[in-house]
Amino acid sequence: MTNRDPGCIFCKIVAGELPSEKVYEDDRVLAFLDITPTTRGHTLVIPKDHYADLPSTPVHVLQDVVAVLPKVARAAVEATGADGFNVLQSNRPCAGQCVFHIHFHIVPRREGDGIGLGFRQTEPAKDELSKTAEAIRAAL
Ligand code: AMP
Ligand code: ZN
Repeated sequence: MTNRDPGCIFCKIVAGELPSEKVYEDDRVLAFLDITPTTRGHTLVIPKDHYADLPSTPVHVLQDVVAVLPKVARAAVEATGADGFNVLQSNRPCAGQCVFHIHFHIVPRREGDGIGLGFRQTEPAKDELSKTAEAIRAAL
């Protein structure tokens, strides 16, 4: 680990200073069970190096983490008898981020499990969609 935040829970897990139920580990990536799982098999996949969120994580680090997601997700689904899964990744408190070491949630899902992601659907005018797209393109 070359990039560590001494106050970070996940850095402590990486360093073995806090316990975790590890399911996958390589030189750069760790996956372990969420301590308050939404469903059985709810797993967190993190880079071993500390970066707070998606925008602050170098692309090569993201590549390492994302490359592991399908393998761990497949295993979590198979091991728990799930039908599918969500991958969730939150940035900043307003989006529900509680631990500021980037992580991807893998949440095994079952048909009819009743878990909602809480997205409401809106119906903006086409003009409004176009303006929003233009604003985002301008901010790239
Ligand atoms: P987020 O809200 O996206 O920041 O998710 C943080 C997740 O980390 C939550 O689902 C917590 O249950 C989980 N978590 C916090 N502390 C631990 C820990 N010590 N071991 C495993 N998972 C943890
Ligand atoms: Zn950390």
